[in-house]
Amino acid sequence: MFDLRNYTLLILTLLILATGCNQLKGEEILHTIDLLAEKEGIALTEKDRIEFKGEEEIVDEELPEVEEPEVVEEEPEVTPSQEPEKAPSQEPEINEAEPVISEEQKAAENITGIDKETGLYIVSNPNSLQVYVNKNRRLPVGHSPSDLVEPNVTHTKPKGDERRLLRADAASALEDLFAAASEEGLDIVAVSGYRSNATQASIYQGHVNRSGQDFANRYSARPGTSEHESGLAMDVSAAVVGFGLEEAFKGTDEGTWINNHAYRFGFIIRYPEGKEHITGYGYEPWHLRYVGQELAEHLYQNNLTLEEYFGYHYELKE
Ligand SMILES: [Zn+2]
Repeated sequence: MFDLRNYTLLILTLLILATGCNQLKGEEILHTIDLLAEKEGIALTEKDRIEFKGEEEIVDEELPEVEEPEVVEEEPEVTPSQEPEKAPSQEPEINEAEPVISEEQKAAENITGIDKETGLYIVSNPNSLQVYVNKNRRLPVGHSPSDLVEPNVTHTKPKGDERRLLRADAASALEDLFAAASEEGLDIVAVSGYRSNATQASIYQGHVNRSGQDFANRYSARPGTSEHESGLAMDVSAAVVGFGLEEAFKGTDEGTWINNHAYRFGFIIRYPEGKEHITGYGYEPWHLRYVGQELAEHLYQNNLTLEEYFGYHYELKE
């Protein structure tokens, strides 16, 4: 049987010798690998990609340059003092070790409770087009969208790769967006969409195993907290920046057009410039998030993030 890994490593070695290590960046390596894999009809696993790309590069798709949260060991920012004041006589037995969240707070914030292991809030509306996760909020354990489809757009990932997928509404909107961009003579390429909970857990655990929990928390999204797991996010790029997920995309014709027009198709730039302290993520001009046309237009016109729109007022874990 054909051994893709040995073959690609050999090719890589030759490439690196030919171009010099410093000039060959992780995304370019990955792109080369993807092209090779696609040519050979073999789907790379996320582990393969991590090995090929190197551990610092893989998280580019998620957390490029953010000083990231520490382990979430602190008390969640729920007021334990609410507990006795709210009709104590009617409250069921309360385990004092666990923070209490009132039903009103749960409803207002679309959460079901707190993940005991991590201290993260668990969202109650994982299937909503308006669901949002961040460094404090996660999708329920094991959540996977039921309506994933493959949008008919140009993609860098090989056939069969889960990252080609999006939820149906987002996929259809992405096709419209790509078509409109194409009419403008622009050449946008999809790079990375859906990522399963298992994949994200594997990426995160790989970092923990290799470099420890602190490193993992700094450079990789905890399972359940990556927006890509919702099936509503797609990273896009253009040939002119080597299909890279990097800030340089902003300055391209494609990046400029995305910034100005994505909302018309129901997408927002989820991690905008200057809002890092609110979203917890550095500027990602390539990360499109589908929220539906009405909300996307509102957020765009008012320069709002999802956190601001929903009144999310907790400090993100640092
Ligand atoms: Zn992304």
